[in-house]
Amino acid sequence: MLETVDFYREILDNLYDGIFFVDKEGCITYWNKGATNLTGYNSADVQGRNYCDIFKPLDKQGNHLCESEACPIRRVFEISALTEVEAYICHKEGHLLPISIRIAPVREVDQHYVVAVEIHSSSSPRYAIRQRLEELQDLAMHDVLTGIANRRYVEISIAARLEELKRYGFDFSVMFFDADHFKKINDTHGHNVGDRILKMISATIANSLRSFDTIGRWGGEEFVVLLVHTKNEDLYKLTDRMRRLVENSALTLVNGETLKVTVSAGATVARKGDTVESLIDRADKLMFESKRRGRNQVSVEFK
Ligand code: GH3
Ligand code: MG
Ligand code: MG
Repeated sequence: MLETVDFYREILDNLYDGIFFVDKEGCITYWNKGATNLTGYNSADVQGRNYCDIFKPLDKQGNHLCESEACPIRRVFEISALTEVEAYICHKEGHLLPISIRIAPVREVDQHYVVAVEIHSSSSPRYAIRQRLEELQDLAMHDVLTGIANRRYVEISIAARLEELKRYGFDFSVMFFDADHFKKINDTHGHNVGDRILKMISATIANSLRSFDTIGRWGGEEFVVLLVHTKNEDLYKLTDRMRRLVENSALTLVNGETLKVTVSAGATVARKGDTVESLIDRADKLMFESKRRGRNQVSVEFK
């Protein structure tokens, strides 16, 4: 048993990240070398002491974490769920250290409840790279103006759904929306107001979707929605509901004027032989059919 403990201790000690355990009273029961490297305190400095007294952790706004309900470690004892926070802690040399804290749910060790806390420096190159990667992934897949998925993400999602359709027969549909007379809004009220209208359209549609459906910006004033497991007979109803929601949304300008916009829509159910192009092309043609019929309309084609 002792050998096993030593074995795990050696692994923990050699980790790059700081790891420590805290008991229910907030006292430190284990402290690895990574934690020493990061904070300047060695194991003897901290053993048995309360972590709040040593580190005086602050949130990003400079408020003391341990003096409020927000104390992350206390919270983990209460909710038993993995928690992550960004904070500042006090280094042994006195300066504040920006760190990421990751606290693992309560574990029972020798009948004592402890939580495992992992800390790593927010300014370490590894952390910076991870942050940058997340930012890039976000940029690569999201539309900057509206915050919804971008065209690339929509294409990847449709390709994945088509694969599922071929393999497992899972149905899905695509809706194509194009704002009506949008150029006139830009010309009359300016590009900024045009941008706000685009955000209004995307948010209105996004808020009416189920969590597993996807909305993306296809181009300037064009939006695509991917609906999974939609029955043929529901498609018209769902598309028309979104058209109506957009029709009933309104942007209030600084002069008190309210501005409305409508969309023309095309919607179609994916077929086994479809490609991303053929499917979007069909939905786009149906959208044009709605334009031709006078705009603010919905055109739907079933399998
Ligand atoms: P229709 O009803 O036939 O669709 O008419 P429309 O005026 O909407 O169509 P058109 O394609 O002529 O105009 C689209 C306009 O959308 C032109 C372009 O300036 C504008 N647009 C494209 N991207 C953006 C954007 O990011 N912000 C703003 N404000 N306008 C944009
Ligand atoms: Mg267009
Ligand atoms: Mg348009």
